[in-house]
Amino acid sequence: MTDKKPNTSRLFSDEWLAQPIQIKDHINGEWLDSSHGESAPLFNPSNGTKIGSVPLGTVKTSRQATAAAAEAFKTWSKRPLPQRMDYIFLMVRAMQDNKEMLAQSIAVDQAKHIAEARGEVMRVIEILQMACSIPALLQGETIQGIANNINGRVIKAPMGVFCGVAPFNFPALVFGWFIPFAIGTGNTFVYKPSTESPLFMQKMMQLLVDIGLPEGVVNIVHGDREVVEAWYEDENVVGVCLVGSTPTAKAIAEGCGRGGKIAMLLGGAKNFCVVMEDAPMDLLIENILMSGYGSAGQRCLAISNIVCVPEIHDELVERLLEASKGVTLGDASDDSVFMGPVISASAKNKIANYIEIGLAEGATLLLDGRNPDMDDSNKDGYFIGPTIFTDVTPEMRISKEEIFGPVLSIHKLGCIDRALDAISDHPMGNGAVIFTQNSFYTEKFIQEADVGMVGVNVGICAPHPYLPFGGIKGSLIGNNKVQGKDAVDFFTQNKVATIRVVDPAINAVNNTSKDDTVRSCVAS
Ligand code: NAD
Repeated sequence: MTDKKPNTSRLFSDEWLAQPIQIKDHINGEWLDSSHGESAPLFNPSNGTKIGSVPLGTVKTSRQATAAAAEAFKTWSKRPLPQRMDYIFLMVRAMQDNKEMLAQSIAVDQAKHIAEARGEVMRVIEILQMACSIPALLQGETIQGIANNINGRVIKAPMGVFCGVAPFNFPALVFGWFIPFAIGTGNTFVYKPSTESPLFMQKMMQLLVDIGLPEGVVNIVHGDREVVEAWYEDENVVGVCLVGSTPTAKAIAEGCGRGGKIAMLLGGAKNFCVVMEDAPMDLLIENILMSGYGSAGQRCLAISNIVCVPEIHDELVERLLEASKGVTLGDASDDSVFMGPVISASAKNKIANYIEIGLAEGATLLLDGRNPDMDDSNKDGYFIGPTIFTDVTPEMRISKEEIFGPVLSIHKLGCIDRALDAISDHPMGNGAVIFTQNSFYTEKFIQEADVGMVGVNVGICAPHPYLPFGGIKGSLIGNNKVQGKDAVDFFTQNKVATIRVVDPAINAVNNTSKDDTVRSCVAS
């Protein structure tokens, strides 16, 4: 709480919001004027004002984009690998040179706190740096001498056009998870940002244009589910990737199943923080605040359920309450506040509704974040302050369902086994963290916590870009994760070659046709 630099100046509002923001599609190298189609309003969540509009794409625009990507694939996929990688290196440089502008673009429409927006951009730069190792990860396998004069080879080949769908809460990160790996491996891409946070991709796409990325390699179509649903039966599309809620992941899985598309679908989350009796308390409180209230609780790795053993429960509650009361709220552009708003009026209502549900279920509302006291310029913003429930049990809806806001539910459970049971019984399995200094608890937790990503004495267990990122159970449909080697595997197909080497100096066919081993090898 105390580590933020005080700076009360607004960083960018005047400059960015001087004119209405007009979001555009980008297809085959052209920014498209969407004046003929429908659009949705774009709001500044910090004060509720309309700041621009986003086009709502149709089946036609969706198909236009995939056709452009399919055409671009014909030449892009055949480019020598070092040429494709040149563009990834240029992307790194372009992002480094424009990192403040890109961070501000996230803070304008998503209203992610500017410090966190800067962190998101830095993480994407790291992901791009990791993507520079694609040539090493693309190397296939060979096996010599599987029969006389016959060798086998596995080639990791590009597949065609991939499409990606982003959630509102990580507009830059999800670009980094999908696009560099898809195009670096030789595919082309159509991307649909969230209609609630499209501005980052508008700015990023301009950088891709500026570095000279060939037309049609990356295309942007804005809109709602209609744009995505058009891909299921689109013969130009080989696969669809999503980061979003679990219901959306399931809907896309169904569509891709019907249309025969491959899919990488990261879903929703409900993350546990287990607090043992020897938890380092200062570190714990600092991390719960960052994880639970950072991005106003709208992170897929945000701590949401806190499970605490009885020995330390009362101390935790007291310390957390005191620290949470000190959390400051304000405009996302204001570096001096801790927390910005949630994304929309409907998200605010949904969170407030969950607070009612918690009360009705019999949990104790220790701190109520509804109706925080805001200054005049932010009084119409979508703010919910830190909220804490105690006496929560694993069966309650506030424990089971994703609230996606700054609401913490504290459970008192007897021991590490009960905590692990609660995690196992939960339908989602994105991340879970434990705070302890005991190596037995640590190893047991890493081994037994039924989630995809585990953390020890960290609030947010986000894996480094070299490692796969993704949950299990309801948090991931299928088995494909983003980042690292997993991403390269998803965006490529293994092609297997069987090669007979014929020596032109002798009649090799006559020589080898008597060889039974060769016959059996080539028979199929
Ligand atoms: P959302 O599921 O409402 O929307 C995500 C995207 O899918 C949007 O672009 C939206 O237009 C599109 N969409 C919505 N319904 C669709 C449908 N039926 N068919 C096709 N497309 C559809 O999610 P959101 O509110 O934008 O983002 C928050 C959610 O994303 C949370 O559940 C959060 O946990 C999840 N998330 C998960 C991760 C992860 O790594 N697992 C990371 C970030 C966010």
